[in-house]
Amino acid sequence: METPKIKAKVVVVGAGAAGIAAATLLFKNNFDVIVYEASDRIGGRMRTHKTPEGWIELGAQWVHGEQQWLYDYAAEHGLLGRSVVMAEESGILQESGKQVSVSDFGRLSEKSNVFGDMLCKDELRKVDKLQSVGEFLTNIYYQTSQDLTDLEKAELESAYDWFIRVTKMDAGSDTLHDVNVRNYIDETCIGNYNHQLNIPFADLFDHVRNYPKEGKEFPLERVKFNTAVAALKFLPENKQVQVTTAKGEVIEADHVIVTVSLGVLKAHQHTLFQTPLPARTKLAIDLLGYGTVGKVVCFYDEPFWKDWKFDYVRGDVKALSLFWKGDLDDFQNDPEKRYDNKPWYRAIRSFVVAQFHPNVLVAFLAGSHTNTMEKLSEDDVSRDITALLRRFSGRNVPAPKKIIRSSWSCDKNFNGTYSYLSQAARKAEVSAEDLGQPAWKYEKQFNERNVQVPGLLFAGEATHTKYFSMAHGALMSGWREAQRLIDGYSTVHI
Ligand SMILES: Cc1cc2nc3c(=O)[nH]c(=O)nc-3n(C[C@H](O)[C@H](O)[C@H](O)COP(=O)(O)OP(=O)(O)OC[C@H]3O[C@@H](n4cnc5c(N)ncnc54)[C@H](O)[C@@H]3O)c2cc1C
Repeated sequence: METPKIKAKVVVVGAGAAGIAAATLLFKNNFDVIVYEASDRIGGRMRTHKTPEGWIELGAQWVHGEQQWLYDYAAEHGLLGRSVVMAEESGILQESGKQVSVSDFGRLSEKSNVFGDMLCKDELRKVDKLQSVGEFLTNIYYQTSQDLTDLEKAELESAYDWFIRVTKMDAGSDTLHDVNVRNYIDETCIGNYNHQLNIPFADLFDHVRNYPKEGKEFPLERVKFNTAVAALKFLPENKQVQVTTAKGEVIEADHVIVTVSLGVLKAHQHTLFQTPLPARTKLAIDLLGYGTVGKVVCFYDEPFWKDWKFDYVRGDVKALSLFWKGDLDDFQNDPEKRYDNKPWYRAIRSFVVAQFHPNVLVAFLAGSHTNTMEKLSEDDVSRDITALLRRFSGRNVPAPKKIIRSSWSCDKNFNGTYSYLSQAARKAEVSAEDLGQPAWKYEKQFNERNVQVPGLLFAGEATHTKYFSMAHGALMSGWREAQRLIDGYSTVHI
């Protein structure tokens, strides 16, 4: 395509995956682009903690699925690490502290597979489009539990409970009763679900700032760090958007691409957008779902779990999954409600041995308890985790010598982790597509033609119709909006 010989000024709000992808493509197409970033780093929800041994991801960790841009790019450039099949590497710990035998394991995994299989099957397509994932799984639980003995029922309940915590982590939601089945009907992940990168996610930006490879790398001097954008206003007479930063700086731009998280949009839409947004954009901001997942990284002197042999694990244990006793009885319609009055660590799904760090366990959890965890002191989190591991293993597990943890929910630059299609959004028939629509359109003369261009554009994971919530969805949304502007200046209409 011919490079537009223009100097339109574009402000990109946010230096995460979407923001850097958009800024780079525009920069390589001769736009005058500047990025405003509230924090002191690029990367957003891709956040790597580097250590002498390697790195630990506090945000995005896996390349999800195959046949998508990030997988293909990583494969082509030798950046793909190993593919992870958790089931083959995971020891199970039970709340009772009782050792899980090979036959116990066989029965428990068979029972949890019931839920996994159904969530990927055509069965899902047959259910009412307004059904939630929570309702769907609860129905399967009750159907499957009929005619079981008490012991079998208890095992099914434990397996169901574990599967709910895994799926909440995947969906990034406080409750699966708010996640619409469509999240799982559209097959977004082809092939193996989890692939590691052999570089830190944070270093992926060295590639993104050079993609596509034609033209110069996007220079970091064009990112204004520690500069949150506080307000955006369309000035029809100037045909520009006025950008006001939290520091009080006011500038004007021809176009603004907003890439902040859905959580930030929900919290600040009324002050951030001083000119009204289209009705469907507002609806999408209000109704699309956005939740929190969390990680607690526990550093130990030695891998005390090394001698916990599980006959059913091939090779070393790389994860410890927690199977609680079921306690469904009072919560038939919404079994997740049983978590409400429970301590935060009830939400932990598993402990995973960190890549490069044989002495480090990472606890994964999801839902509103993540927010509670973020607000506790490190000592309290450390104490609770030690008590939990002692109870489930029946052994005198040491306390971690240090912990670090994510704080996505409390960090005002994110207000959570990633988006999902909520029940309310499905009912109102709004989706990520509505959030990705440009606004504040105006007409301007360019190369002796009238072009229709938007003043305001939206990118970010929550705007990607297929890969919302994921890193590659965020990248692709950034390129999509940059391309929208490039095309706008190359053709008569957008
Ligand atoms: C714990 C966790 C685990 C994840 N795991 C995976 C995974 O394994 N695989 C996967 O594919 N994806 C995963 N994701 C999702 C993936 O990280 C995100 O989809 C992606 O990084 C989002 O990028 P983004 O550019 O849309 O938004 P962000 O990364 O949120 O970027 C937006 C930027 O805007 C900045 N900002 C906010 N407010 C303002 C303001 N007012 N002015 C200026 N700047 C502002 C923020 O600081 C941020 O840098 C995970 C996310 C989390 C949090």
